[in-house]
Amino acid sequence: MQKKKLNPFKIAQAQLDEAAKKLGLTPHIHQLLRKPMREYHVTIPVKMDSGKIKRFKGFRVQYNDARGPCKGGIRYHPDETIDTVRALAAWMTWKTALLNLPFGGGKGGVICNPKEMSSGELERLSRGYIRMIFKYIGPKVDIPAPDVYTTPQIMAWMMDEYSKLIGYYCPGVITGKPVEVGGSLGRDDATARGGVYTVREAARHLKLDTKGATVAVQGYGNAGLNAAILSQEIFGCKIVAVSDTKGGIYDPNGFDPKAVVEHKRKVGSVINFPGTEFISNENLLELNVDILWPAALENVITKENAPRIKAKIIAEAANGPTTPDADGILYKNGVFVIPDFLCNAGGVTVSYFEWVQNITGLYWELEEIHRRLDERMTRALHNTLNMSLEHKVNMRVAAHMIAVERVARAMELRGWRKKIK
Ligand code: GLU
Repeated sequence: MQKKKLNPFKIAQAQLDEAAKKLGLTPHIHQLLRKPMREYHVTIPVKMDSGKIKRFKGFRVQYNDARGPCKGGIRYHPDETIDTVRALAAWMTWKTALLNLPFGGGKGGVICNPKEMSSGELERLSRGYIRMIFKYIGPKVDIPAPDVYTTPQIMAWMMDEYSKLIGYYCPGVITGKPVEVGGSLGRDDATARGGVYTVREAARHLKLDTKGATVAVQGYGNAGLNAAILSQEIFGCKIVAVSDTKGGIYDPNGFDPKAVVEHKRKVGSVINFPGTEFISNENLLELNVDILWPAALENVITKENAPRIKAKIIAEAANGPTTPDADGILYKNGVFVIPDFLCNAGGVTVSYFEWVQNITGLYWELEEIHRRLDERMTRALHNTLNMSLEHKVNMRVAAHMIAVERVARAMELRGWRKKIK
């Protein structure tokens, strides 16, 4: 399959190259931005429930910190690779810049299958990972957060381990924590909520009525399920299809996404939800819907299936779901793509609010979080849209141009040049 051959980091570099060319970036700054600034590779010994010790491989990539401490999640996934983490760390750098958050970009990953691990094993792995990298992270250095298959509970263990190692309670080292240990209100559904705000603005631009608009969601993790629930709650959209790793469900008349969450909790998958028919993950992407949310993993929309995509808006809740070839096809076909590092930036934006609250010790109401999130997402969407219209480039190129220029400017101002003029 083509999917296996695609290297996300090569894709990230190609996207940067295109933006660099359009911006006329100085070669030295461009070259610096093509590689991570720093990366850690660790081997974590973990005592399994059987009593045996298993070794896990983990990474933390600090891509660029010109605009502030590195920021980005940690993924637990059996197929994790260093190049995926590098790509995700690059995208975090653009994401924080596009949203104008005072952060750089980073990402972490551990090669493991959390679905096959007990809670005790996961806790020991999470604490072990922090023991390996605690010297290199911190509220002013690099602030991790959740991502694929890492949860608020895991963030709480990690924060606890870090606090023990440095000798005092330090909630600002990690975001996405449960509210009881310094988490922020509104962080739980922030990724999807931010995406929903961008969809609202895109729909306005396209003069598409969101009330009754049909929605398909690929992936029913935190981002996917909240995208479905909030699209229905906030706009009255009709959710017609959702999926997870086992497959998907489809009902053209729509169904209740909250009831599907309950069903998945009981039986382990969305499939066989009463009143719906089975649909494969591949076919879900090609449904004739108004709004499509790829909310699972990277490289699912490729040059093979892009010509068959019928959605009017693609809201990329996942990181890297669309390949560059597919981007070209979608743009030509008039599909409005809200690129990943814009669409899913709600998560890191509320993470920023969480970090601010941790550092100041003053905690905000939920309404305040929603208002500030809406403001930032709406502004970022319109900045990107204006850039895209002005330069006649797709939304992803436009978003890269804004973000890369901001990072490059910070690097230049800080004097990260070859020669001092
Ligand atoms: N993992 C999320 C992302 O890809 C959130 C990162 C954060 O909150 O730092 O944006």
